[in-house]
Amino acid sequence: MSEHIKEKAVVKSSKAIGTDIYDLVLEAKGIAGKAVAGQFVSVYCNDGARLLPRPISLCGVDKEAGTLRLVYRIAGKGTEEFSRLAVDDTVEVMGPLGNGFELGEKKAFLIGGALCVIGQILIDKTKLTPARILVGYVTTGVLLSAVGIYKPFADWAGAGATVPLTGFGHALCTGVKAAVQEKGLIGAFTGGLSATSGGITAAILFGTLVAFLFKPHAK
Ligand SMILES: Cc1cc2nc3c(=O)[nH]c(=O)nc-3n(C[C@H](O)[C@H](O)[C@H](O)COP(=O)(O)OP(=O)(O)OC[C@H]3O[C@@H](n4cnc5c(N)ncnc54)[C@H](O)[C@@H]3O)c2cc1C
Repeated sequence: MSEHIKEKAVVKSSKAIGTDIYDLVLEAKGIAGKAVAGQFVSVYCNDGARLLPRPISLCGVDKEAGTLRLVYRIAGKGTEEFSRLAVDDTVEVMGPLGNGFELGEKKAFLIGGALCVIGQILIDKTKLTPARILVGYVTTGVLLSAVGIYKPFADWAGAGATVPLTGFGHALCTGVKAAVQEKGLIGAFTGGLSATSGGITAAILFGTLVAFLFKPHAK
């Protein structure tokens, strides 16, 4: 994806965040400038007896500060050596490696995630059954769509608004509106289903498959 750089990185911080788990921040301006989410670096051991570098994924990149954040678990001698690194120590690092991805669709993940967090809070903190929460989401989507709020929201949030259940309500409402305009009153009965048939078929198919694999039960 991008050209590899080998550079001497300076340790900015190194701390244990769990049993044998370390959080290491390295200043490596060249690599940080090129790295994207999903990539990893190869960290060389200072002990020359260990020739091969140890691959560690990028947990965070601060492009302004030129730093990489690595979180690793001690697995053997190499990672044990890294755990002894102190501030201002240097270590050779090569990267960025692997096929990363751009975070252009971050907004969709944030909005979709936020809508799902609301559902999770309702499941955890109220006595509402998942079925009622599900119907509440769909109905909310229908109502917001009917008053013209959901479409601009979906245009802005993309898949973050169309994939969750409120988006299903929006699709039902949009389908009904279009079918009523085209076929008259009968469209109120057919439009919702024809607009969402793909999603409904997928839900039935994958729901049935998952039910065969796991043991579904009520809340
Ligand atoms: C692309 C990639 C990204 C990685 N990202 C991380 C990360 O973010 N955080 C993290 O803690 N670790 C990560 N690892 C694993 C890490 O590279 C190894 O734990 C490390 O190289 C072990 O080196 P060592 O000298 O400490 O242990 P070694 O002495 O080399 O190995 C100790 C034991 O761990 C086994 N082992 C070594 N490497 C691996 C591996 N890759 N998978 C399974 N078993 C292994 C060995 O067979 C041996 O039994 C990643 C590995 C890869 C390939």
